[in-house]
Amino acid sequence: MVDTLTQSARSRVMSRIKSKDTKPEILVRRIVHSLGFRYRLHVKELPGCPDMVFRRLAKVIFVHGCFWHQHKKCKLAHFPKSRHYYWEPKLNANRRRDSKNTRELAKAGWSCLVIWECEMANIQELTRKLKKFLNG
Ligand SMILES: [Zn+2]
Repeated sequence: MVDTLTQSARSRVMSRIKSKDTKPEILVRRIVHSLGFRYRLHVKELPGCPDMVFRRLAKVIFVHGCFWHQHKKCKLAHFPKSRHYYWEPKLNANRRRDSKNTRELAKAGWSCLVIWECEMANIQELTRKLKKFLNG
């Protein structure tokens, strides 16, 4: 299957999402910085410890790995059927936690934007999206 990651590709994905300063996150930071916005990183006091926090704007940005956070209909989110029993509970728990955090943030008056790892493929579109969210 074309959309199934190989074992080595998967371990690369896994090692990437375990580190705090993942490449997609650094890319998003660079874009946001170039747009002239200031932010705080990984604010633990807020639900889900958002990757970027714009306090004055009451906005937060999460940069999510597609596999770990189970991006819907994304080819990077697929996991091997043979290891289904292993991944399914973990990944479902992640999803539930994500939506709970988003709900709690919204209740406290924060606007949330989730940027997915696969969106790094189109920087122009990504920049447009970030600009719209932060200016809107
Ligand atoms: Zn994705």
